[in-house]
Amino acid sequence: MNVLPDTPSSRAAARPTVTLVGAGPGDPELLTVKAIKAIRQASVLLVDDLVGEGVLRYARRGTRMVQVGKRGGCASTPQAFIERLMITEALKGERVVRLKGGDPFVFGRGGEEQEHLRAAGVHVEVVNGITSGLAAASGLGAPLTHRDHAHGVIFVTGHAKGETAELDWPQLAATAAQGFTLVIYMGVSQAARLEAGLLTALPADTPLAIVQHASLPQQRHALTRLGELQATLREEGLGSPAIIIVGEVLRGLAAAQADSRRPSAAAA
Ligand code: SAH
Repeated sequence: MNVLPDTPSSRAAARPTVTLVGAGPGDPELLTVKAIKAIRQASVLLVDDLVGEGVLRYARRGTRMVQVGKRGGCASTPQAFIERLMITEALKGERVVRLKGGDPFVFGRGGEEQEHLRAAGVHVEVVNGITSGLAAASGLGAPLTHRDHAHGVIFVTGHAKGETAELDWPQLAATAAQGFTLVIYMGVSQAARLEAGLLTALPADTPLAIVQHASLPQQRHALTRLGELQATLREEGLGSPAIIIVGEVLRGLAAAQADSRRPSAAAA
């Protein structure tokens, strides 16, 4: 059996197409088969800065690679340039693949890009990737839902488009208090606001984890409590890119880690 069957990108080459491909959280082993196939077939690859180096080894020799990275949605992002480039290359008949960290449709502007490409007459295909929030949870060994602790998960960005779009953290905290795990992207730079807002409806000892570089060899994490978010970031020197997870699903983890570090447990 062929484990790499024909992908939509190869079938659709007759019309101008851009494939938005989720590159996952960084570990190349977490790429989907479909993503590998799309990368192999690309003649032009536009690569985000959170795309792991190992992922690029699947590109064919001779593929034009354009690094279009930017960090944390800063104001100087040449988003219009990236979109123009994709449109121009697709209309020339190139097989254009836009490699985005995690999943293209989770906080990656995939939706905006799709709208603009379609408006320019370019067909868009999307290949899922494992979003970093999920990789962070499995990296910790923590579930995001649990029948005893959380009946849902909220994926949320700490970095809104503008001040007016600022998230209502107290409102979010009130919802989370009803039994939802929070998975927060781009939250590090907003830690003060986030901590104060969530404390309005969640107890200070609500378990919280910060996972930096999830799935990569340099992955680091800290397990702490909501009331100590900023202090922990400072003390542990953790920074972007990181996922912050808040919720009772983490409660058992700190105890388990403390246990496993005891000499008696190590010797057993
Ligand atoms: N589409 C991406 C998210 C892009 S927004 C996805 O699905 O994962 C960028 C944010 O994602 C970063 O600020 C950080 O919060 C998170 N992120 C991306 N890769 C990460 C990684 N390997 N470890 C931890 N967080 C990561």
